[in-house]
Amino acid sequence: MAERTKILLIYTGGTIGMVKDYQTGSLRAFDFKELVNNVPELNQLACDLSGVSFKVPIDSSNVSPLHWKRIAELIRDNYEKYDGFVVLHGSDTMSYSASALSFMLENLDKPVIFTGSQLPIGDLRTDAKENLITSIQIATLKEEGVPVIQEVGLYFEYKLYRGNRTTKLNAEHFEAFASLNHPPLVESGVHLNVSHTSLYRKTDSESFEIHTKMDSNVAVLKLFPGIGQSLVRTVCTTTGLKALILETYGAGNAPLETWFLTEVKQAIERGLFVINVTQCIGGSVQPGQYETSRELMEMQVANGKDITTESALAKTMYLLGKNLSALEFKAVFERSLRGEMV
Ligand code: ASP
Repeated sequence: MAERTKILLIYTGGTIGMVKDYQTGSLRAFDFKELVNNVPELNQLACDLSGVSFKVPIDSSNVSPLHWKRIAELIRDNYEKYDGFVVLHGSDTMSYSASALSFMLENLDKPVIFTGSQLPIGDLRTDAKENLITSIQIATLKEEGVPVIQEVGLYFEYKLYRGNRTTKLNAEHFEAFASLNHPPLVESGVHLNVSHTSLYRKTDSESFEIHTKMDSNVAVLKLFPGIGQSLVRTVCTTTGLKALILETYGAGNAPLETWFLTEVKQAIERGLFVINVTQCIGGSVQPGQYETSRELMEMQVANGKDITTESALAKTMYLLGKNLSALEFKAVFERSLRGEMV
């Protein structure tokens, strides 16, 4: 008889794991047993579930690279014992965490599915149950004994996305996430429809390993009409700063004012890595398409192509942890490492 699929639930915090205490009316974090009690449907799943929780579950606004390290280590320590992992996480920073884990977990050949909810699991109209149950079902999918999903995904409201392609775009709707530059990997209706051509597969035969050195000496600077020189200079000269993600307009465009270009140029000359990503949630940087992006291109600013800001931030922290030269950093950044860009 074939062995039952084993899934590990990792609870980090967030609304999904809250239950209502009907005596006090307030929400509190659950333990694993309580979760199963709240979702008896879990007993019907054809897999064995185990759970592990952060000692102190956190609202995801408190997430830091140390929490990412903890998740990565939990997955590494349990990698051989389980067929897949479902990470329960607050939705606010879920795209950042899913992006970070996609870089920290290298040569993954099992599913790691992030999910959460807009309403607590104990709420009558909760979206948590569907998100949780379907995430687990997707994590158990196999074809000829091989996991269908072999990457970090994010499941929310009937769609599994590649985690490092997502952005949270709605604070209230159940459909809270979007992935405008990559199609959903799985859509859940009556059946689970897998888009096989959209799935990520590792390119070499190396075995799974984790990278936990994330260097957060990075800043994101969103351009806006009226941005002033002192702000740009203050950001660029921040003590210890190693990389600057410039969130530019449209297809990677920035002001042509001399002071702006000079600040960026001097920052690059001082050794800062500068990356151009668009503040649009879909589409791509197209260096040189307009004269307003040509100068940045000529200064050798790294082309973020169609990467999300969340993913650019995670990728930068990951690459800063590797002590690359400016040339290497630009070359590696502009390459897709985990399907995060074209
Ligand atoms: N503030 C919560 C969090 O991100 C919201 C949620 O759980 O979705 O942890």
